Amino acid sequence: MPLPEPSEMPAPAPKPRTNPLEVYARVFEASPDYITISRLSDGRYIDVNPGFLRFTGWRREETLGRTAQELGVWPDPATRQRFIEHLRSGSDQPHASRLGVRDGSLRDVEMAGNITEIDGEQVLVAVVRDVSDRRLVEAELARHRQQLEALVAARTAALQQANAQLADANGQLAEANLQLAQAHTELQQAHERVLESERETRHQAQHDKLTGLPNRVLLQDRLTRLIADAQRRGALFATLFVDLDNFKSINDSLGHAAGDTVLRTVAERLCATVRRSDTVARLGGDEFIVLLPDVAHGSKVAALAQKILAQLDAPILIGQVACQVGCSIGISLFPDDGDTVDHLIQAADTAMYHAKACGRGNFQFHSGELQRSSQQRITLIHELRQGIAQQQFSLHYQPVVDMASGAVVAAEALLRWQHPQRGTVPPLDFIPLAEECGLIVPIGDWVLDEACRQLSAWHRAGHARLRLALNISPHQVWRGGFAEAVAATLQRHGIAGTSLDFEITEGVPMQAREQTLDTLRRLAGLGLRLLIDDFGTGYSSLRYLQSFPIHGLKIDRSFVQTLSDDPRGLAITGSVIDMARHLQLHVVAEGVETEQQASLLRSQGCSTAQGYLYSRPQPAEAFGRLLASP
Ligand code: C2E
Ligand code: MG
Ligand code: MG
Repeated sequence: MPLPEPSEMPAPAPKPRTNPLEVYARVFEASPDYITISRLSDGRYIDVNPGFLRFTGWRREETLGRTAQELGVWPDPATRQRFIEHLRSGSDQPHASRLGVRDGSLRDVEMAGNITEIDGEQVLVAVVRDVSDRRLVEAELARHRQQLEALVAARTAALQQANAQLADANGQLAEANLQLAQAHTELQQAHERVLESERETRHQAQHDKLTGLPNRVLLQDRLTRLIADAQRRGALFATLFVDLDNFKSINDSLGHAAGDTVLRTVAERLCATVRRSDTVARLGGDEFIVLLPDVAHGSKVAALAQKILAQLDAPILIGQVACQVGCSIGISLFPDDGDTVDHLIQAADTAMYHAKACGRGNFQFHSGELQRSSQQRITLIHELRQGIAQQQFSLHYQPVVDMASGAVVAAEALLRWQHPQRGTVPPLDFIPLAEECGLIVPIGDWVLDEACRQLSAWHRAGHARLRLALNISPHQVWRGGFAEAVAATLQRHGIAGTSLDFEITEGVPMQAREQTLDTLRRLAGLGLRLLIDDFGTGYSSLRYLQSFPIHGLKIDRSFVQTLSDDPRGLAITGSVIDMARHLQLHVVAEGVETEQQASLLRSQGCSTAQGYLYSRPQPAEAFGRLLASP
């Protein structure tokens, strides 16, 4: 069904007219606030609304015609007067006050109102709102806020305090840390001091106060270790007991201070004489011990003992007085003379007494055998020196012959030592020792000079084609400047390098140092021939035949001498001769004693030889005669 058009809708029914006073009266009656109308002049109530009655607890009939004062609504006239003045001031703010209710209690209110006229009489219209509850709430709120604020303040204060405490604590912590670090440093320093003092104490316990040398305690320790070490390695070592010869008399005559100076000087000299790895200790009094690890044989020890004797024999200056102290030395050797600390010291001590008994100022070994052998070596070295100085050496010459013609083509110079007591000493008895102690160098220089002098004489005597072969020690080759020295000697005697053969052993090229090669090249450069002596008895490397300037080989006597009986000897000489031919090396057979050996060698193609078959080594004069004979 369609909706009707608005114009078709019926007009609304007119509302009945309402009197405004009735409306006001209804508002007056219904208002939750309470409203009073009282005469301004005396304050008597003209009308009150039900709100007022509910609020105060009075009944309407008890109220009308009475004053608020009488009912105790206004607690005092001044309160009412203040309200009236508030209204007159025209303020649009509610007026706060307190009004009494029937039970006598006071309630907080907010009041508004006005002064108006009813029937020509001035009346006070008061609209009152009970705000007691609100006040209560507000008060409660305020209290809560206060509490809250107090709480916040308290918390803030607490927090601040906590912060302050934290900061304080932090500060204290930092300080504590600082103190801790300081304490740590102090602790460390204290620890260092303790260690240092321990070291100091240990050092003091183990060292002699006067000389600073190890004392008996440390010596025992070192000796114990040395024994263990030597036992493990199968090594030898020596214990030297050094006792001063004239200490007591110096001490007695010049006083203890002088004695102390002597002991300190002796300590210094001993330390300066030995190697760092050796131990010098003071046993007490004027007794010292020297430990020498790793001594190969007695002669090394004897040499050192000799050195110590010389060092302590040198005068010690005390003030203006030069004191001759001197010492006697006893030597024990591990393991021959003992294998405990006590035995070794005891043995050295006994040997020292023996040295004293032998007239002081000397050394003695505990073991006689070693004593003798080392003494012999020392004596021999001493005599070798004398031999050089006193020209006790000479050269013998053994001819080298051409096997086909029997002609003497060369001679080998062989050293002889004419010892004043022992007679002729063969070279093998002294050359190894001379090499060991370095005396081979001056001896070798002498041999070269003497051989060149003699060769020059023979050349001048008409044997211009004669060559000389010299035996050269590896120590001469390894020494710097050898080729230059040779050149100078050749020049001095007017000899051409081509007249000389140098016999070197296989050990020389095996020491394949650049300098060795250089020296050999220089020698070859002088025209000299280099022959390998005792070929086949040394190192078996043949490489040096390729890289070194070698001109020839001397087949060792040991092969030659087995030629006739041992087919292997024959095979060896044959092979060596073959190899030499292929390498274009000159060959000399050594030690040919029989015609059979000579013919075998000849049949193998050997061209030159030397040996007793042709001639023994001869003194120069005899060899000269041999040269001159047909
Ligand atoms: P070497 O150079 O092999 O000299 C040959 C050695 O054999 C010589 O001994 C010589 O007398 C010996 N001899 C020669 N023919 C025969 C023989 O038919 N039968 C036997 N049984 N022996 C024979 P010597 O003179 O005693 O020399 C020994 C070694 O001493 C030499 O062996 C050489 O290595 C070395 N020597 C000799 N003189 C010197 C020298 O002036 N300086 C150097 N550094 N060493 C030298
Ligand atoms: Mg030789
Ligand atoms: Mg030889």
